[in-house]
Amino acid sequence: MDLLPIAAVIVALDSGSLQIRLSNVAFRRLGLTTDPANCALTRDLGGALAAFLNGNSPREQRSWRTGDAVEQRWFDVTFARIDSDHSPRCLVTLVDQTRGMRTEASLRREMNTDSLTGLPNRAGFGDLLEARIATGLTNYAVLVIDLDRFGRVNSCLGSMAGDEMLITVARRIKGSLRAGDVLGRIGGDEFGVLLQTRGERAEADHAARRIQDVLATPIRLSDFEIRITCAIGMAFGAETTDDAEDVIRHAQFAVRRSKETGQAEAYDTRALDRARERFSMETALRRAIEAEQLRLHYQPICDLATGRIVAFEALARWTAEDGSEIAPADFIPVAEESGLIVPLGRWVVDQALRTLAAWDVRAGRPLDVQMAVNISPIQLQRDLIPPMVTAALASHGLAGSRLKLEITESALIADPDGNAEILRALKATGATIAMDDFGTGYSNLAYLQKLPIDTLKIDRSFVTDMMADRDKIAIVRAVLSLAAALGMATVAEGIESSAVAQTLSALGCTYGQGYHFSRPLTAAQAYELLSAPSN
Ligand code: C2E
Ligand code: CA
Ligand code: CA
Repeated sequence: MDLLPIAAVIVALDSGSLQIRLSNVAFRRLGLTTDPANCALTRDLGGALAAFLNGNSPREQRSWRTGDAVEQRWFDVTFARIDSDHSPRCLVTLVDQTRGMRTEASLRREMNTDSLTGLPNRAGFGDLLEARIATGLTNYAVLVIDLDRFGRVNSCLGSMAGDEMLITVARRIKGSLRAGDVLGRIGGDEFGVLLQTRGERAEADHAARRIQDVLATPIRLSDFEIRITCAIGMAFGAETTDDAEDVIRHAQFAVRRSKETGQAEAYDTRALDRARERFSMETALRRAIEAEQLRLHYQPICDLATGRIVAFEALARWTAEDGSEIAPADFIPVAEESGLIVPLGRWVVDQALRTLAAWDVRAGRPLDVQMAVNISPIQLQRDLIPPMVTAALASHGLAGSRLKLEITESALIADPDGNAEILRALKATGATIAMDDFGTGYSNLAYLQKLPIDTLKIDRSFVTDMMADRDKIAIVRAVLSLAAALGMATVAEGIESSAVAQTLSALGCTYGQGYHFSRPLTAAQAYELLSAPSN
């Protein structure tokens, strides 16, 4: 039977001496012994009661935490004077709050625990780190481990397989750590490690390598062998801050760089400077889009057999306020990361079609030339491209067949089903689709066949110096025969010499683009080239 978690003791105070008699019965009700030697509470209570009686207040409430490490208990204790005429008396009430506190503690534990792996979650990991820092821990490293392509495992093999993979990963990482180190799951596919070090960077590097090693053995999930790779970011305690949240954030920050370099990376303050730079670029880019400070240049795409211009690719150009040219390779990623790619991308489509329509007007007829526009993967995810394209075509009075959309191979692979639908809707506008940077992703044949792609653009990394590299020639040859089998046209990018142009033509490539034909041009220069008699 449960004991009532309350005990009231009336203490009679003998007038002369302050003799406190605590009722054994009442205390036993609470499962406490009244032997002061054994019970911290009864001992402390005596002192507290004396202090209370010496003061003037008629009531006082206090909380006690008592017991040993095994049995912690909490009490709320109230002292109240209940003097009658002849005998001064005091009522001591003890309410046992242990159960409530335990529920709260287990609730907190639950809130701090990841239910899948049983590891501390983001909040729990942060609390643990904070607690260690509060007890004076200074030599430590926080590692953040970000699994690559986890989303694909989830979407291809299902979330059960994804869960299984996370559990295996957690077990393996745990196994690679030392006893005092702490592992947490701090995000969907992100783990955190608190490493106690002797202050040496090499120890953290070593731990990172161990983690990568234990993950390298493929994991068997349903019928697949999955090889796990990860990015690892590290931040060191007390080096830049002693705030737990900051240290975790710094390590997460370093993860981004690790993704770029492919090896474990430590946070350094220069990374922060780069972030600031990026941020200020974002602000400037936002302003540039609003103020229409961006321009388009147009690079011809030519028929390799005849040299005739069949299309222009619109390429964004940005001159910053200080007059410097910022390359698309630098600002497009910033636009993608910040979401600015949506307004920017809409502007590019509109502007490119406006230029094409103006050329038609100047020529007095619809020219036999297409406009190719790059569509970023982030645009595909965030914007409704088909209605945007339909509206832009209509507003410039152009047929859909005049527009070609270049989408990178990796973008199409990221979400095959969703993208197939978007591509079909785009095809319905009459536009044609080119797969850009082909050869740099992981397309398989079966998959390519399912998408309504008209053109493959062979990435310039295979083209520019292909004459000096047999492997590249072999790859180009393979891509060309693949495209022929699938009935797709081919464009080779990055042609810088006539030798490469001729070889490609001989290998059966239809179109080419590159400095050999022309660098990207202003709209006026492009029109001039287009209307030259040789074209
Ligand atoms: P991309 O789509 O592969 O565009 C072709 C890039 O190759 C252009 O660089 C072009 O100037 C360059 N190029 C052309 N011929 C040659 C050559 O013979 N040799 C060499 N080495 N390079 C050549 P650019 O203009 O710097 O653009 C870089 C990338 O930025 C583009 O690669 C594209 O992915 C992206 N980009 C540019 N404009 C836009 C845009 O309006 N929207 C989106 N989403 N991305 C854009
Ligand atoms: Ca392109
Ligand atoms: Ca390209």
